This record gives sequence, structure tokens and C-alpha cells, in this order.
Amino acid sequence: MNAPISPRPGYRTDTLPLGNSFAALPPAFFTRLMPTPLPAPYLVGASASAAQLIGLEPAEFTTREFIETFSGNRTPDSALPVAAVYSGHQFGVWAGQLGDGRAILLGDVPDCSGSGNGWLELQLKGSGLTPYSRMGDGRAVLRSSIREFLCSEAMHGLGIPTSRALCVTGSDQYVLRETPETAAVVTRIAPSFVRFGSFEHWFYNDKIDALRTLADYVIDRFYPVLRDAGNPYQALLQEVTQRTAHLMADWQSVGFMHGVMNTDNMSILGLTLDYGPFGFMEAFDAQHICNHTDRQGRYSYRMQPQMGEWNCYALGQALLPLIGSVDATKAALEPFQAHYLARLDRLLHAKLGLASTQQQDRALLDAMFGLMQANHVDFTLFFRLLCELQIDDAGADAPLRDLFLDRPGFDAWAGQYRSRLRQENSADIKRRLAMQAVNPKYVLRNYLAQVAIEKAQNKDFSEVAKLLAILEKPFDEQPEHAAYAELPPDWASTLEVSCSS
Ligand code: AMP
Ligand code: MG
Repeated sequence: MNAPISPRPGYRTDTLPLGNSFAALPPAFFTRLMPTPLPAPYLVGASASAAQLIGLEPAEFTTREFIETFSGNRTPDSALPVAAVYSGHQFGVWAGQLGDGRAILLGDVPDCSGSGNGWLELQLKGSGLTPYSRMGDGRAVLRSSIREFLCSEAMHGLGIPTSRALCVTGSDQYVLRETPETAAVVTRIAPSFVRFGSFEHWFYNDKIDALRTLADYVIDRFYPVLRDAGNPYQALLQEVTQRTAHLMADWQSVGFMHGVMNTDNMSILGLTLDYGPFGFMEAFDAQHICNHTDRQGRYSYRMQPQMGEWNCYALGQALLPLIGSVDATKAALEPFQAHYLARLDRLLHAKLGLASTQQQDRALLDAMFGLMQANHVDFTLFFRLLCELQIDDAGADAPLRDLFLDRPGFDAWAGQYRSRLRQENSADIKRRLAMQAVNPKYVLRNYLAQVAIEKAQNKDFSEVAKLLAILEKPFDEQPEHAAYAELPPDWASTLEVSCSS
């Protein structure tokens, strides 16, 4: 628990002390510009817990000031809004210059959470055209904005590093996607939105001085202890590699799939960033592709750890001129798999309520995933129901067992699991409580988001608020919301999410 250590300052929207340290970088790093106003914006949803991070009073949410500011219609006098430039590899191919095509950094405010490095940036996403919009319209639709808002806060609730989301505002202005949809703005919060692609940008443009300026900025502001390392740039790569490996393990452990792990969507702070066609695994299939646009499955569930590593190598390539040698660069990247596997192993042991690690555990886990795959078992339900297992009462397995078509297969596995638990004298109640604290009951299933989106498209925002409240406490039983933890309805299987947002 991160209890706030500083007294809550109780800012109002117009007294937020906005600075902009990113805008103090040389002008080539960004373009100064104003958000483009949206007609008659209204509040779709807001997170009190995100507001608390920046000391903003939740009473502000309903004020005109708040809605106008976070839809980009009114810019605080002290703000120096900018759109940042970056490049990146998209689906493994160098894509050249990208940049904040529809996001505008309002600035940074003091971090009131008592953790972190001292500042948090506020960024409007969907706030209009920028010099980096390319063929886009600078806008985001209500659908994708609600998804990003809810998932950011849900991931935080799961304890997984992520950018946060303060609010979503909407407008009746139409935006053309496959069908006409309405525009929205999501206000994101993170210590920094610098991406792997921000470094690649300078490397591929052969601007090594700018590359160094960016690396120094990131080290001094976010990784100050690395200054003391023999080679701070190598230390930076080492640290980002570790954080990324850990993030991949965190994602795998809850069945989260990002969908577009391009290097321009990879956070230099190891945060989950840029929510688009993400998904949570339902019927388990290691090859599942959550992004309809990703035909080849580059970012399928099972590929995520490898792609995370691939992205770290792309970052390593970009940092090579600063690190100074291929060997030192490789040495920083090499531990990725070890970091990933160690973290995953720890997380999976916790998910199974195993207090110790033994050699045979690998086989137990492989058999478990094999059965889940063969039986299309719902990922979240499986682990949550596993918490209830009683060592000496196989009869109590019924709800869990019912997830499997192959009941004898399940029984055989459960038998192995039981003997493993007996070996360490596991106690049912104690294990259940420990397992429930790491196996969420509630995740943002696509269909749950879809229900909230469709209501919001009809101006009923109650489901957005309700889902947010449930997903903020994903490990709590919340028996009154048990329906939100059930198997998805049949119509959910026809839902498709793509890069269109
Ligand atoms: P993404 O894959 O969503 O992270 O986006 C890749 C790039 O496309 C980024 O540079 C985005 O800023 C840009 N982009 C995506 N959608 C739009 C849009 N509607 N208008 C302008 N730029 C966009
Ligand atoms: Mg992006």
C-alpha cells in the first residue's frame, strides 16, 4: 500500500501547479501547440484515485473548469503544451517518424502519492491535430477512450505498472472510423511518456547529441541513481531491460495482451502504455491474438515476452552510440530472459499458492497450461476458482472441474497439485487468502467494456463508473458484482478489436 505521505494539497483545476520539464528540452524534441477545442464537452468518467495522485479534489470533476480543461478547450495560463516527436518499429518494420499525432502534453505537476520521482505529466489524448498526425485526424473515439480509461485504472488495481487515467470527456462531434463515432479525450497521467521510439528517433536520424540529451534527461529525472554507474547509458539499458522483462511476466500472469507492442508504444519507465486493441485472455489459447489487425500474430499472448525482448534490443541498438561497445550493450540485454523467467516463476507459484519451489513444479505448470489450452478454460475464472480448492475434499472442486470438458484430465492434474500442496503442508484457508490476493476475480473483459461503451454512446455513463469501481478492487470478492466475474456471454465471441481507435 502506498499511503500518501504528503498532506493532500486539495488543488482545484485552475490552481494545479503546472510546469513542463519536457518542454525545457531543445526545441527539436517537440512542437509547441494548443489543443483543438471540442464542441460542448461533457464528462464521461473520472478516477478519484488518479486525481488523488496529483492532489486534485474529486469535487472538481463536475465543474466546468475541469471538463473544459481536460477536453482541451481551456488551457491553464501556466501550461506550455507540446506534442513530442518519436519514431519506431511497427510490427517489426522501421516506420520512421511518428510522434504524438493526437496527444498533447499539458505539462507536469507534483506527484502527491509519495512514491515516484516527484512529478507526474498530464497528457490529453485525442486533443486534435499536431505536426505528427500524418494521415490521422488527431482525434480519438469514445469507444477507445473508455477502453483506455478503464484498463489503465484496472491495471493499476492489479498492481501492474501502467500509465494512469484521470478522466474521459466526450463531445457529440463526429469522427469517421469504419462507422461514424463521436470524439473523446482521455487524460493520461505518468511520470513520463518517453518511449523506446523516442531514442530510436535520434539514432536513426544520426543525431547523437540529441540522443545523449534525451538519455541524460531520462537518467537525471527518472533514474538518478544510475548516474553513479561506470557507464550510465549501459545501466539505463540494463534497468529498462529488467523492467520490461518484469512487465511481460506481469502481463502473462493475468492474461493481459497489449495488442500493439511496437517500439513507439514501449515505455522507457517499464509502464503499460498506449492502450489500443488490448484484451484479457478468456478461453485459454497461448496463440490468441487480441488485435484483429495483427494477422500474423506477432503480438499474440505467447509471443509477448519475446517481443518485449525484441523491443529491448531495438532500444539497445539506439543506445549503442552512447554505451560505446556492442559487448557492453549485449551484456545489458542478455539478462532479459532470466529476469522474465524468474519473475514469471515467482508469480505462477503465488498464483498456485505454492510457498516453495521444487523441480517438479515446471511439469505441474506445463500440464496445467496444456489442460487449460485443450479445454479452452477461462483464464481468470480458473485461477480464481483454484483458490477454493480443498486438499482433502475433491468433491468441493465441482465449479472448477466444470470448466473442463476433460474431467478425468482435470482430476489427474488436481491429484498432482494436491500432493504437491501436501508436501509443503499447505493449509486451505491460509492458501485461499494468499491466492485470492494475487488471482483477480474481476478483469476488464472485452464484453464488459462493450456494454459500458454502448451505454455511454447513449449518454448513460453509469456503467463506466460502475466498472471503474469494480476494477479498482479486482481481488475483492464484491459478491454484489459476482455477475461481472462470470464467463462471457455467447455474443462476446463476435467482438473484434482492431487498431482503429
Ligand atoms: P498507435 O499504434 O495507436 O500507438 O499509433 C501509432 C501512431 O499513429 C502514433 O504516432 C499516433 O500518434 C498516431 N495516430 C494514431 N491515431 C491517430 C489519429 N487519429 N490522428 C493522428 N495520429 C494518430
Ligand atoms: Mg502509440
